[in-house]
Amino acid sequence: MIDDSRAPRRDRAGFPPTRKSLGQHFLTDKRILTRIADALHLEGGETVLEIGPGRGALTDILAERAGRLIAIEYDRALAEVLRQRYAKKGNVLIAEADVLEVSLGELAAGPYVLVGNVPYYITTPILFHALVPPRAQRSVYLVQREVAERLSAAPGTKEYGALTVNVAAVAKAETLFKVAAGAFSPPPKVESAVVRITPLATPLVSEEEQRPFRLLVQGAFGMRRKQMRRVLRSLYAIDAPAADAVLAETNIDPDVRPETLSPEQFAKLLRAEPHKLREP
Ligand code: SAM
Repeated sequence: MIDDSRAPRRDRAGFPPTRKSLGQHFLTDKRILTRIADALHLEGGETVLEIGPGRGALTDILAERAGRLIAIEYDRALAEVLRQRYAKKGNVLIAEADVLEVSLGELAAGPYVLVGNVPYYITTPILFHALVPPRAQRSVYLVQREVAERLSAAPGTKEYGALTVNVAAVAKAETLFKVAAGAFSPPPKVESAVVRITPLATPLVSEEEQRPFRLLVQGAFGMRRKQMRRVLRSLYAIDAPAADAVLAETNIDPDVRPETLSPEQFAKLLRAEPHKLREP
């Protein structure tokens, strides 16, 4: 007799139990799924990377439109279902992996576009991960509405932060449309929005500057209520006159708070002597 007591349980459609701990809220509204795929502006030959294909609702549409589709799913049981479903589709690869552990550029092995109804417990890490070069030619994400607001926030607002500045330094972020919780099964507790991120032709920071820039910006927002003189002193272990000299060189008032600085001002600060490219 075959012992199948260790085989994962399946529902009538053949899917394993939903794992809320993996942010599994499946999008069931066909119209919204189509709008997300449309927002990628695929022309037919592109390599598409999908983050978290889940039960394959978006994957089905992308598989018809992409030249090559690589879908990265962490849940082993779901990855297995998808592998079987697309076994005969030569252009679809299911990669069973933690998206944060894979190099997206290496996986694509060439130019690519990125899309995902991402798991909300790791939205910000995924957005930062996707900023590592070689970056996608464009990305479309379904995220919590609050994250969409942070991506397009203006300096001085409470939503403006390290995510806003790091993305703005290399890309343009647009909120395309909102998605109500009822479009998912099971529905999440928050509202959602679809955003598109398109790299700037001329980024504010180079590839080599990106890491020290991120450390500067994250360090500064870690002290968002402090004045810039104090922020620089703490981050770079310099005295007040040295901090004032850097701020004078970059035309930044020493008394302002980091949350009021534009991405361009952060980029200028990074390049100012004496801490040019030195990591905080
Ligand atoms: N794309 C599907 C949809 O629209 O219905 C599913 C979206 S669901 C919000 C997020 C998916 O990401 C789930 O399938 C979940 O298992 C997967 N996931 C969670 N953590 C992941 C990780 N670290 N790496 C890759 N996929 C992950």
